[in-house]
Amino acid sequence: MSISEILNKVDPSPLPQAQEPQEAAALTHEEIKLLLAAEGEDKKKLFDRALQVKLARLDNHVHLRGLIEYSNICTKYCLYCGVRSKNPNFERYQLSDEEVIGCAKLAHQLGYGSVALQSGERSDKAFVDKITYLVKEIKKIDNGSLGITLSLGEQTEETYRRWFEAGAHRYLLRIEASNEDLYYKIHPRDAKHDFHQRLACIDSLLSIGYQTGTGVMVGLPFQTLDDLANDLLFFKKKDVAMVGMGPFIPHPDTPLWQYRDQIPTAEKRMEMTLKMIAILRLMMPEINMVAATANQTVDPQGREKAILAGANVIMPNLTPNEFRENYLIYPDKACVKDQPDQCQTCLDVRLAAIGHKVLYNAWGDSVAFTKKH
Ligand code: SF4
Repeated sequence: MSISEILNKVDPSPLPQAQEPQEAAALTHEEIKLLLAAEGEDKKKLFDRALQVKLARLDNHVHLRGLIEYSNICTKYCLYCGVRSKNPNFERYQLSDEEVIGCAKLAHQLGYGSVALQSGERSDKAFVDKITYLVKEIKKIDNGSLGITLSLGEQTEETYRRWFEAGAHRYLLRIEASNEDLYYKIHPRDAKHDFHQRLACIDSLLSIGYQTGTGVMVGLPFQTLDDLANDLLFFKKKDVAMVGMGPFIPHPDTPLWQYRDQIPTAEKRMEMTLKMIAILRLMMPEINMVAATANQTVDPQGREKAILAGANVIMPNLTPNEFRENYLIYPDKACVKDQPDQCQTCLDVRLAAIGHKVLYNAWGDSVAFTKKH
């Protein structure tokens, strides 16, 4: 089958006003692999179709989540992550309550509509209680006008429920690799890093009613096109509301650094990430998809390219600058030195240049999720 025939399976004239969830093209594993391998004119056709579908379903709007990196204290030691507990080469921090609330108020002032609270993984009582308190405090700002996404790793169902009842309504837990064998090549094989536990957490989040997000890294050592195609089918099967995907960036203080010469070039990892975004936009036209900062780290135009490939969410960093250098899951992260107001102007200008605009003062929920519920 040619790329054009595969793309013709995707409805080119969708109806954005329809209130019912709309079935998207059911691409097969083989078709996805062909799209992932597309080059030249075929690759351009893929990106053009993904943009066309996104604009028809979601308009040219980009939603913001003001990112608050609450703490880099983590009990785990994922093999790719600079924040892993076994890396002694940087200072650990936890923001004070005032700092977190200050960031959330700033997000509100800047019209971001939503915040995302992210942290290294802890599940002790003090941490769970603190997050519950912070979520409730953020909800008090202007009578609950800020939407809250949490990205705080694996927790018990009871904890997820507590945070949901406190006011968080979106949760991002990336599977990182949906192939169990690959998962254990990028995580230690021990009780703390259990693949099935992670799957169970995603299922808990979905059943509680969170707008649940997941995602993967693209360009990992040992990752194949089959893995990537299966990752996309995994998102579709779980029927998640949002997805975040970014290129893998090796960190020198991690075990995966040893494979840095065995992975595709940064340019190829970036290009494959864009293809993953574009194909998923065809498969799940109304979900939210993040243009990850990792894209911009690899390519100065990376976030814009991700938006043009089908992403519709950006997460500007609101963490106080003095802490950002210590939250480096991967090295040389983009925008680490930017001030929030600079960041806002920069985003407006960059998005206008590609025919998109930020939808200010809106939660920016997943259209797919909203229609379903
Ligand atoms: S990826 Fe998350 S859980 Fe794993 S070491 Fe890094 S911060 Fe901790």
